[in-house]
Amino acid sequence: MKTLALIAHDEKKTDMLAFVNQNKAKLAKFNLIATKTTGMLIREKVGLQVKCYLSGPLGGDAEIAALVAKGKVDAVIFLIDPLNAHPHDPDIHTLMRVCNVYNVPLAPNVATAELIVSREQL
Ligand code: PGA
Repeated sequence: MKTLALIAHDEKKTDMLAFVNQNKAKLAKFNLIATKTTGMLIREKVGLQVKCYLSGPLGGDAEIAALVAKGKVDAVIFLIDPLNAHPHDPDIHTLMRVCNVYNVPLAPNVATAELIVSREQL
């Protein structure tokens, strides 16, 4: 089973929930992991199983970056809020950087996320 990481900044959590709801059947075929608040929301509102790591601002993005670096994540959907500053900006860049270092698909917006889950194979 492929592992998909789901992360959404606070201003993008509504978009993430709508995306997950619309693609529930496809996403159920993945081993889903997430930062804490994003993952808890998906569990509660959509009912999918998600393994939660730390909250993003408390190191969750860095934890998921480490998993990407170890080859344990097949794709990352990271809905980024481009209009606000974030205290964990270095971790956000680390996660994006390791995705690029290891050529792991990374969706920073819903349009790209749709393309990733519409593929039969990652
Ligand atoms: P959260 O983290 O899911 O715990 O809110 C997301 C983030 O800000 O990186």
